[in-house]
Amino acid sequence: MRWWGWGEDGHEVPLPEPALGMLRDELGADPGARRAPVALEEVRLPSPRLAGSPHDRMAGIVGADWVRDDRETRVGHAAGRGYADLVRLRSGDASSAPDAVVLPGSAAEVRALLAACAEARIAVVPFGGGTSVVGGVEPVADGFAAAVSLDLRRLDRIVELDDASLTATFEAGLFGPEAERQLAERGLTLGHFPQSFEYSTVGGWVATRSAGQASTGYGRVDELVEGLRLVAPAGDVTARPLPASAAGPDLRELIVGSEGVLGVICEATLRVRPRPRVRRYEGWSFRSFAEGCEAFRVMEQAGASPDVARLSDEEETRLSLALASSGSALERAGRAYLRMRGHEGGCLVIVGFEGDEEEVERRRLRTGAQLRAGGGLRLGRRPGEAWLRARYAGPYLRDELLDRGVLAETLETAGTWAGLPALYGAVAGALRDSLSSRGTPPLVMCHVSHLYPSGASLYFTFLARQEGDGEPGPALEQWRAAKTAASEAIVTSGGTITHHHAVGRDHVPWMRAEVGELGLELIRAAKARLDPAGIMNPGKLLP
Ligand SMILES: Cc1cc2nc3c(=O)[nH]c(=O)nc-3n(C[C@H](O)[C@H](O)[C@H](O)COP(=O)(O)OP(=O)(O)OC[C@H]3O[C@@H](n4cnc5c(N)ncnc54)[C@H](O)[C@@H]3O)c2cc1C
Repeated sequence: MRWWGWGEDGHEVPLPEPALGMLRDELGADPGARRAPVALEEVRLPSPRLAGSPHDRMAGIVGADWVRDDRETRVGHAAGRGYADLVRLRSGDASSAPDAVVLPGSAAEVRALLAACAEARIAVVPFGGGTSVVGGVEPVADGFAAAVSLDLRRLDRIVELDDASLTATFEAGLFGPEAERQLAERGLTLGHFPQSFEYSTVGGWVATRSAGQASTGYGRVDELVEGLRLVAPAGDVTARPLPASAAGPDLRELIVGSEGVLGVICEATLRVRPRPRVRRYEGWSFRSFAEGCEAFRVMEQAGASPDVARLSDEEETRLSLALASSGSALERAGRAYLRMRGHEGGCLVIVGFEGDEEEVERRRLRTGAQLRAGGGLRLGRRPGEAWLRARYAGPYLRDELLDRGVLAETLETAGTWAGLPALYGAVAGALRDSLSSRGTPPLVMCHVSHLYPSGASLYFTFLARQEGDGEPGPALEQWRAAKTAASEAIVTSGGTITHHHAVGRDHVPWMRAEVGELGLELIRAAKARLDPAGIMNPGKLLP
């Protein structure tokens, strides 16, 4: 992946023409002014501190080729892929870069590396795909002799595929597309497709409790975990792959979501499913977000949800339609139809069904009946198929927005159905107030995308003209103020500080509100036992 953005060179997704007009008209940005990232040679990097015996010992464990401290590798491991990470990197600030990147080839090598690092007081940051958006992979090395990023990409095998039990044991560093490719050869799928799918790993998903776009049907990754192997400085913890057990508290729950602070997840056994023969995606419309939320609640509680269920609010719908606008006769007819049915200015829904033909058709009819009863209007397959085609495009567009001096960020939460309207209003209001008060009125959009019987997640996207004319300091201050305002609103409105992005560094200030003081003590006690020297991903998850 590019060190300053998303994807690889040569794979640009240009902003459509209507988007450029919107940036100018609605945000006051100048879409013609492009600000390229600095050249790699200009990036400021601290001198590497890993030399002498610790370096030689690590090289002795993994081989000299797998201990790297060249400029590009260090910069590529300095930060994740959140907005603030990219602002800093693009401006040439890689002051957080690890002293070296070490690439182990086996769990035994991970074990030996952790022992060497504990002895030499070297901080260790487990690194999967590096797509964290909450500061999870950025080294925090205060008080340590050095920091290494433990890049797990060489742990890239499917160790075992059990067709009878429908489970697969993955090494942690296997990337999403390769995992699905190998499963497809056996007619299977994991069904876990986060928007970062192309560049994230199985171990990263498990370590962050990731939720894929089809989590309503396939389940979040934490619901798929059957077994785990954690290699910690104090030893290995193994949760055997079993369908169920009454043997006390479930150790899997301690390891899933541990974000590298307890040890390295080297293997995970996850439930897989037969690969769907049919994928059917379609669009619906509701007159308002409130009406759509209520219909989703009733549908979910009736057990009639599709695999993908997304409801955009009015603002997200307006922007999506404007960006997709072609001005064609078909589109004009579509708009006239919405107007006639009282759905102009309403909210777009995408539903997706995967499985065999008969099952998909049966579920589709059931879901359709629920949506219609809740006030929904069916729009046919086009919007659904367009969404499916563009499901990974968003992060590429973000690079284009940053190029044009636009703040483009996302954040997420979840709450109960009863509390969802207040949570939605509070977070959207906090983002608008924070950015408007600084003179940069934003566009704030939201969608519901992961449904549960008792509630749902809310995913916010916000855009504003970036402060500071290319200077990272004011741009980061603008972002921090908006993020803090939204996080406070989440906590005071009863939401969780994160539904799937994890805690990392950015959400640490709200962990006390999330789990309470004794809860924090419990996690700290587990860390002290598993990682007595405190070398594992310091500064993350725990205040
Ligand atoms: C554009 C974009 C879209 C995204 N969309 C989604 C989405 O749809 N759903 C979602 O859930 N998330 C999403 N994310 C967030 C991110 O992709 C997820 O958190 C993902 O699970 C991280 O996987 P990774 O392999 O990149 O992990 P990394 O970013 O490398 O690591 C994440 C954290 O886990 C730790 N870690 C990684 N591997 C291990 C391991 N084997 N053992 C122990 N600790 C480990 C790291 O130290 C770090 O704290 C998105 C991010 C971006 C940039």
